[in-house]
Amino acid sequence: MTAVNNIKIALAGNPNSGKTTLFNALTGAHRKVGNYPGVTVEKLEGVVQRGDRRYHFVDLPGIYSLTAYSIDEVVTRDFIINEKPDVIVDVMDSTNLERNLYLCLQFQELRIPVVGALNMTDEAEAKGIRIDEQSLAASLGIPMVKTVGPKGMGMEVLLDRVDKIIDGKTENGVHMVNYGSEIEDKLEPLQKLIAGDAVFAERYPPRWLAVKLLEKDTAAFKQLEGHKNAARIVDAAQESALWIGKHFGRDAEIVISEQRYGYIRGATRESVKIVKQSDFSLTERIDRVIMNGLLALPIFILILWGIFQITFAVSEYPMAWLEAFFSFLSESLTNVLPDNLFRSLLVDGVIGGVGGVLSFVPQVVILFFFLSILEDVGYMARAAFATDKFLHSIGLHGQSVFPMMLGFGCSVPAIMASRTLKNPRDRILTVLLTPFMSCGAKLPVHVLLAAALFSENQANMVILIYAIGVVLALISAFILRRTVLKGDPTPFVMELPPYRAPTLRGVLWHVWEKTWFYIKKAGTIILAISIIIWVITTFPRYEASDAEREGFAATFYAENPLTDGGDEEYEEMLSQYVETVEVQLALENSFAGKLGHFIEPIFRPLGFDWKLATAGITGFAAKEVIVSTLGILYRVGAEEDEESEGLRESIASDPNMTPLVAFVFMLFVLIIPPCIAALGTMKAEIGLKWTAFQITFTTILGWSLSAIVFQIGSLLIH
Ligand code: GDP
Ligand code: MG
Repeated sequence: MTAVNNIKIALAGNPNSGKTTLFNALTGAHRKVGNYPGVTVEKLEGVVQRGDRRYHFVDLPGIYSLTAYSIDEVVTRDFIINEKPDVIVDVMDSTNLERNLYLCLQFQELRIPVVGALNMTDEAEAKGIRIDEQSLAASLGIPMVKTVGPKGMGMEVLLDRVDKIIDGKTENGVHMVNYGSEIEDKLEPLQKLIAGDAVFAERYPPRWLAVKLLEKDTAAFKQLEGHKNAARIVDAAQESALWIGKHFGRDAEIVISEQRYGYIRGATRESVKIVKQSDFSLTERIDRVIMNGLLALPIFILILWGIFQITFAVSEYPMAWLEAFFSFLSESLTNVLPDNLFRSLLVDGVIGGVGGVLSFVPQVVILFFFLSILEDVGYMARAAFATDKFLHSIGLHGQSVFPMMLGFGCSVPAIMASRTLKNPRDRILTVLLTPFMSCGAKLPVHVLLAAALFSENQANMVILIYAIGVVLALISAFILRRTVLKGDPTPFVMELPPYRAPTLRGVLWHVWEKTWFYIKKAGTIILAISIIIWVITTFPRYEASDAEREGFAATFYAENPLTDGGDEEYEEMLSQYVETVEVQLALENSFAGKLGHFIEPIFRPLGFDWKLATAGITGFAAKEVIVSTLGILYRVGAEEDEESEGLRESIASDPNMTPLVAFVFMLFVLIIPPCIAALGTMKAEIGLKWTAFQITFTTILGWSLSAIVFQIGSLLIH
């Protein structure tokens, strides 16, 4: 295969222009499509074979410009400069063509062949925007193809245009933006200086670097550092920029951007016609209400509240069915299998641990169903605006809202999504606070305890915990901004995407993705940890001697004096009691029991007994594990009863477990450091030092706040 048959194509463009959708349409992959920036945080890669050609696609993060302000911009720019793709497919939102072409022209200056995908053609037409792609292509010197991502329309033509470029049948990049004679006069000598230096000229297109230097692009200046001709080039660039600034009365970078827009306007004048001017689009009308300054925040809160209420109301039944199913399963296995270690492993370890976690699948499905709809409709982006003003006053960046909302799902992608924030301090702050957004894995813990002890008010309790998380994040932001992360948040600019009807396929896809992730985790990590927990709760083995059993029975007789002869019911109760005590003792003598008792003093001020202490500790691996640990530790009574009790009931009937303890435990789980996976991601994104800070901060906060609440709560209750 020749090199010509291996084609590297970068999919680039503004956020939300449809890059990932086109990537999926082209490669047949199913990657997450999101309505807000930061979703494509890593480069996605896919290969397509067509005839004897292989097309390697890379889906790059969305950007507005090639300046190196945000990490997304740096990722995209570095990729293009270092990897030198054969073709850039610039995915553009046709309803917003001018802004999208702005980036397109900068790609062109990088001297990499560009094919323009005029995406969202369907929406543009609905809005009365008519684009003559041939004429646009002719005036810009870039092939243009109309596409509709979700329908896969235009993909063949797109690949044909790529082929034509590779085969040298299309002249590409013949036209460049002309910045006007004054600027061009300054660019030319600068370009020559750069071209004269072999090192730069090989790495960067001279004209592009010259323009960047005039724009005072810091990353471009950095590239020059240490080269022997650098001083001359830097001097010349600074002098020219100064001259332009004086001559035009505006900063050189502004002048350059104006010239680009001027050039774009010239190119679109002929080729883009707006045939119908809708007075007020539906989006604008909806936004007038939803984005109203006063109403925006309450509406946002109301929507989230409503979603949680519905989630709990709807999931109650399927959850009960699942619990019944797992009870039935463990009962049947208990009856069928001989009473040995293997049965215990299966029933107590696997079903008790994994089954407990899987019972929460309905909640996960329903919650993510609603969140996906909000996302696809375009409301999530608005939530950022709705909360921006408020957040800004606290010291958070409006764009922090995206990663934080993702945090309700899972902290790992959320932490990665914080890359869209340009200012490193904004970013560190956002990453530190994201785990306060109670993640999908903590949901089962909250639901389990709320359902066990706050039956009527369970939804409200869970909402309360989520709300406390948000409030703690805000307070922490306020404090951190004024101590370790001093500085003002940078201003927030982003365009709101129009409202879009969510597609059933899209929503179902998101839900499936999340659910499958959850189930997979239950079947792998959670299963493994459940087995470990079963081992440490089962060994060393303990069996009561006959004498000890008689002792237990004696206690029972003392507590329940026999009135009129031993009837069957009484005998039943007796044997039940003896067994319960025995299981309890076995647990307490196991490794886990010893460990739990050993750490119990640390948690005594929080009101936790050794079981809760153990469960809290195991949650470090993954938060769902807390549920499976409880499932295993509370196996007492979960067997051999005619109506096998579910975990909720076992917990509710534990004398140590009061509503106050349950609440404090939920609070503790909410605040303590996130799981190992999230910490790993955090370390990769903001470094070890800040990760260590996060762990320390949340450990201290989690413990002390829980202790305070428990102590005050106990005082009030007694
Ligand atoms: P990215 O940020 O550039 O990767 O954009 P996405 O691929 O995530 O798309 C953003 C949204 O636009 C998604 O909801 C897509 O379903 C939607 N979308 C993408 N292409 C089109 C299109 O051609 N027409 C319409 N109507 N919607 C599109
Ligand atoms: Mg994307």
